Formats: sequence, structure tokens, C-alpha cells
Amino acid sequence: MPSQHVLVLNCGSSSFKFAIIAASTGHEILSGLAERLGDAAPSLKYKFSGTKTVVELPPHAEHKAAILKLVDLITELKLGDDLVAVGHRVVHGGEAFTQSILVDGDVLAAIQQTSALAPLHNPANLLGIDVATSAFKHLPQIAVFDTAFHQTMPEHAYLYALPYEMYQKHGIRRYGFHGTSHCYVSEQTHQILGLDKNNSKIVTAHLGNGCSVTAIKNGRSVDTSMGLTPLEGLVMGTRSGDIDPGLFAYLSDQLGYSSKDIDTLLNKQSGLLGISALSNDCRTIEEAAANGHKQAQLALEMFCFRLAKYIASFAVSLGGLDALVFTGGIGENSDLIRQRVIEQLAFFGMTCDHDKNQAARFGHQGIISTNDSNVIALVVPTNEEWVIAKDAARITKETK
Ligand code: AMP
Repeated sequence: MPSQHVLVLNCGSSSFKFAIIAASTGHEILSGLAERLGDAAPSLKYKFSGTKTVVELPPHAEHKAAILKLVDLITELKLGDDLVAVGHRVVHGGEAFTQSILVDGDVLAAIQQTSALAPLHNPANLLGIDVATSAFKHLPQIAVFDTAFHQTMPEHAYLYALPYEMYQKHGIRRYGFHGTSHCYVSEQTHQILGLDKNNSKIVTAHLGNGCSVTAIKNGRSVDTSMGLTPLEGLVMGTRSGDIDPGLFAYLSDQLGYSSKDIDTLLNKQSGLLGISALSNDCRTIEEAAANGHKQAQLALEMFCFRLAKYIASFAVSLGGLDALVFTGGIGENSDLIRQRVIEQLAFFGMTCDHDKNQAARFGHQGIISTNDSNVIALVVPTNEEWVIAKDAARITKETK
């Protein structure tokens, strides 16, 4: 059987990441990033056969020119023949999408409709689909949604305690994000631990620049920390996570903030960066904290405290807890944060194995709790691109 390769595209407003993935193994054949699109010096960087190359794009080149350059590159590297589909990461699928789907006119219209809920992300995702559809006319385009995995949450978990008609008329509810990652690491966890998928209670902590935790019961999301937008929940790199909504009126009435100012404050100037007044990068914060930087120490403390509180509360959502999974740049690499969070959850009978915890870094997966721990803690590197590739290959096969 010929190899099933999928081009995975993750489009942002001025950049896009791409990869060609072998759907059956997850092997990354080509990967790269087009960035500073629309600026004076846009570029396309890629890695192929272990070699990294940077291609300068014409000044002010936008998505279309960069994707056409990618098409040329794929032809040059003779990677086109095995391609079976293009898989697109789409951030917000609203309530319309509970799983990945082949893109057609109706799907495009539905994604367009949810754009109001994700104005920073969905328009860029749609642009990517549009350009890729004309650049790869012979390939099916598949949309994979960050929100889809969380559509199994029960009403009492996804609703805000607002007038019910806010949900009915405007779709205001919690949707949750990072679904592809939470789904992937929970499936891996079932395999690694030999858990029964009909009888399992897992919390997955995706800790990267954006952070979220999800409660997964019997393989289905039943609660998650992000909400209507990816701002709710944990302390993140530059995002505040949970705050008192009364803050909005205070900032606006007393301090003269516009809604745009408030959005910038909460999304771009808060979190680890805001508290430390130093950096949004967890490595920099950890280093500064070790050197006695008080605000960096406080930022780490707040990050771990909020995370531990969420995990504990998700034991209520699950009615127990079998396993706690760490993933994402921080979850996969910061033994310090993992240790501190597990220590705060000691009342669950969860204990950290320090040697195993320190060994689980740089893409290594494994159990990091002691053998007698009541809850198993483990590290599972995420692989969202592979999930997108697998879904795209499967749907392409099913719809042939
Ligand atoms: P991601 O968005 O998943 O790429 O994760 C980015 C975050 O992971 C940044 O805050 C990095 O500082 C953090 N990170 C990466 N490597 C390490 C490390 N060795 N120790 C602590 N944090 C790390």
C-alpha cells in the first residue's frame, strides 16, 4: 500500500506552520514555518532530512505567496505524489463540529459563522483553507477543530451561570480548546497504563504558552479549564486565566480602559509575564526564581497553585482520579513545576518519584509518580500534527 502522507497546515494571522506527516507512523517528513507574512522581510523556514533551510520571500508576501512557495518546495523535494490530503487546524468549531470533517461549502459557512467567537484565529484558518484549496486542487481539505473533543461536556459543566438566553441566542458557553492535544495524550495514557477506556478517570494538563487542563472520563471530555475563549482558567505565559468579571467594569469605569485595552491587558500582558514583569518564558522565570527574583518566584507559585487547584476540582468532575498527565512545552520539560504541583496534591495520596521526574524531559514519556502513589502521574509528549494527519487520512479514505 502506498504511504499516506498528509500536509498539515496551522495558519495564524501573520504566519503558518506546516508539516508533511506519514499518517500511519507520525513520522515528520518535512516541517516548517512561514512567518512575518505581510511584513517587509517574510520568510519560509523548513527542515527536511535533518537539514534546516531558510527561504526569503518577496517583501510583503502574504499567505497566498507563501503557500505557493510551499507547493514549489513540495514539488522540488518530490513529496507531492504520496500526499493524500491537507489537514487544517481550525481553532473554533462552536457547537457545529463534534469531530473532524471534509471541507465543503456548508462547512466553510459554519466555520465562518463561528468566527465571531474566535476573531483572532478562525479568519486566519479560513484563509489557509481557501489558499490551500486552490493550491492543492486535487487534494481533499480536512478541518480538525480544537473545540471538537470538548463537545461531550455535560450542560452543567459548559454553561455559565448567566441568563439562559445568552446561551440560546448568542452561543455564550464554555467550549474549551487544545482538544486535539488532550485527546491524543489521553489515548496514549490508556495504552501506556493499560487502562480500561470504559472505566477511567484522567486529568490531562497541556502546559505550553497557552495552558489548559481537561477532565476525561471513559475517554470523553467532561470538563475543561478554557471557556468561551482560550483566556479562561490557568495562569499562562501572557494570559491571566480566571479573574473576577467585575474587573471589566472597574477597569472601564474607573481607569478608562477600552474593551480593546482590557483584551490586550488580559491576553498579552498578564500571566507569567505580568506577575514577573520579566518574561512569559517559563525557562527564564525558573532561572530568575532560582537566582532569587521575587516576582519570578511569585509567578511560579501562582502558576502551580492555580494548576493544582484545577486538578483537584476536576476530581469532582470525574468522581475520582486514576492518572494525571503532563504535556506541552512546560509539562514535558519542567520537572520543577511537575514536582511542585504533585506535592500540592499529596492529600490525594499522590507522590512524585524525583529520579523518574527528572529523567522525563525532552520528548521522553513515562511515569513520574512512585510505585505506591494512589494516582499515577506521567509525562506524555503531545503530537497534535499527527492527530490532524490521522484524521485527514481516515476521512479521505472514508469519503472516497
Ligand atoms: P509550547 O507552547 O508547548 O511550545 O511551550 C512553550 C513553553 O514551554 C515556554 O514557556 C517554554 O519556556 C516552556 N519550556 C520549554 N522547555 C522548557 C524547559 N526545559 N523547562 C521549563 N519550561 C520549558
